[in-house]
Amino acid sequence: MELQQPANTERARTSDPFAPATVRHEAARRRSIAVISHPDAGKSTITEALALHARVINEAGAVHGKAGRSGVISDWLEMEQTRGISITSAALQFTYDDVVINLLDTPGHADFSEDTYRVLTAVDAAVMLLDSAKGLEPQTLKLFEVCRRRGVPVITFINKWDRPGQEALELCDELETRLGLRPTPVTWPIGPSGALAGLVDVASQGITFYERAPGGATLAVATPATMDEALERAEQDVTAAVESAGLLDAVDIPSFLRLETTPLLFGAALANIGVRELLDAIVRLAPAPSARVDRAGKPRELDAPFSGFVFKIQAGMDPNHRDHVAFIRVCSGAFERGAPVVHAQTGRSFATKYALAVLGRARHTVDVAYPGDVVGLVNATSLAVGDTVHATGPAVKFPPMPAFEPEHFVSARPADPSRSKQFRKGIAQLEQEGVVQVLVSEARGDGAPILAAVGPLQFEVASFRMEHEFHAVVVTHPLDLSVARRLAPEDAVQLSGVPGVELAHRGDGTLLALFRDEWRLRAVQRDRPDLVLASLIEDG
Ligand code: GDP
Repeated sequence: MELQQPANTERARTSDPFAPATVRHEAARRRSIAVISHPDAGKSTITEALALHARVINEAGAVHGKAGRSGVISDWLEMEQTRGISITSAALQFTYDDVVINLLDTPGHADFSEDTYRVLTAVDAAVMLLDSAKGLEPQTLKLFEVCRRRGVPVITFINKWDRPGQEALELCDELETRLGLRPTPVTWPIGPSGALAGLVDVASQGITFYERAPGGATLAVATPATMDEALERAEQDVTAAVESAGLLDAVDIPSFLRLETTPLLFGAALANIGVRELLDAIVRLAPAPSARVDRAGKPRELDAPFSGFVFKIQAGMDPNHRDHVAFIRVCSGAFERGAPVVHAQTGRSFATKYALAVLGRARHTVDVAYPGDVVGLVNATSLAVGDTVHATGPAVKFPPMPAFEPEHFVSARPADPSRSKQFRKGIAQLEQEGVVQVLVSEARGDGAPILAAVGPLQFEVASFRMEHEFHAVVVTHPLDLSVARRLAPEDAVQLSGVPGVELAHRGDGTLLALFRDEWRLRAVQRDRPDLVLASLIEDG
C-alpha cells in the first residue's frame, strides 16, 4: 500500500510550521468527518472509494481488507494479539483538491460501542450513508441523534442506487418526517434505483452517464454530457430527474450547519458512482475546524498554542507490548512530535516522542499536526477519554467526554474472591479509560458492580483486559435491563423496591434508574407522572 505524504510536511519545509498564520491556513484547508451508517450500508466500500478517488491507495480493498471477514470481534482480538499492536484504524488522512480530509473511523458492526459515539465528538461534519432499499435503519438513527445533539452537520449519501430500492422522493420524505432534516439535492439520479444511468449535478445541471466497464470490472465508466446530449440519450429519465430535484430546495450552507437541511447525494460506492461528487461536497460544504469552546465557555482560538482532547483509547490488548494509544483530536495550534505537552487533568507534562498517525493498517510517525487532525500518543497511560492536553504555557481544559446512554448491562464479580483487590483496581482503570461505564447499586455493593455499555463488545474488551492485564478473571451475568434514566437523589424513594427497576450510581455521582425495557419505563412513568426521568442519550 502506497501512502501519500501528508500535505503538511511539504509546507513544514517551506515555511514556519508553527507560525499562527500557517496554523490558520492549515486549519482552513482541513475537513474532519466520519461516516455514520447501519452495518452493510456500504461504509467500508465508500471509505475505500473515497480514499481511492483521492489516490491515497492504488487499489480498493487495501484500507480495510474486509473480504472474507468472518467474525469481527475474534478477528480483531486475534490480530491485536498476533501483531502485538493496535491495528484498529482511527483516522484515514488524504489530500483532495488541496484539502486535507481526515476520515475518522466509526466502528459500526458487531463492534458498535461507546467509541462509535465518541468519534462524533471529534469531527466537524458527518456523512450519513443510507442503503437505497432500506432507508433509515436503527444504528443510523442512533448515530444521527448524537450528531444532532452535538451540532455536527450531516451530508446524506444514498448508496446502492444500482440496485432496486425505494423511490428517491420517498427517501427524501423519510429524512424530513423522521429526522426533521430537509434534503437539499447536490446530485439526483437519472433512472430509478436498480436502473442507474447517470447523475445530474443539480446546481450546474451538468450530467454524467455511467456504464459498466467492459470485462466485468466493478468500476463504472463515466461520460460527461451536456443537457442537450443527455435529453437526446434518455429524455424521459433526465426530465424526470430534473423535475424531481426541482421540487426540493437548493443547498444552503447556514441551514445545513444548523442541522435543518442535509445536502443529498446519490450513488453506488461499489461502482464508484457519485464518489467524486461526495468528495467535492465534503470540500465545499463541510465546515473547517473552528475554535473549540473550553470548560469555562471560552473559545480556544485555532492559532492559540497546541491543544487537543482524547476521544478514544486503544489499550491493553497485549500486555507484552506497548500498546496503549490515546487518540487526540487537535483543537488548536500545531502539534509537534517530541515537544512536551501538559496533561491538563494532572498538570504533569510529558514528552511526545511516540506520536502516530494511523492510516488504515499502516502507521507512521507524525511530526506536525494541525487543528482537525488526529494524533495517536503511544504509552501516555495516564490519559483518559475526554482529557485535555496542551502545550506548556497557559492551561486549557475542554469539556469532559459525555457519557452516552448505555443499553446493555451485566453484573461483574471476580471468579476468584481472593483476587478482589486486583478486580477493583482493574475495574477502576477500565472505568477511567471509558472502556465500560461502571455503576454501583446499593443492593449489589461495589464488590459486584454493574457494567454498562452502548455495545456488548465493550464487555468482551473489559473481560479480556481484566484477565490478561489485571490477572483477575471476571464472571459476568447479563442483567435483564436495557434502559437507563437519570434520577434526582430525592426521588430515589419513589422507585426503590419497584419490580423491573434497579437504582445505581455512576462514578461521577449521578443516580440512574435502570429499567427492564421501554415498556417498563413507560408503565412506571404512567403511574408517577410527576417523576422526572431524564434521558441520558448524551449526558455531560
Ligand atoms: P459496511 O458494513 O457498511 O461497511 O458495508 P460494506 O462496505 O462492507 O458493504 C456491504 C455490502 O454491500 C458488500 O457486499 C458490498 O460489496 C455491498 N455494496 C456496497 N456498496 C454497494 C453499492 O453501491 N452497490 C451494490 N450493489 N452493493 C454495494
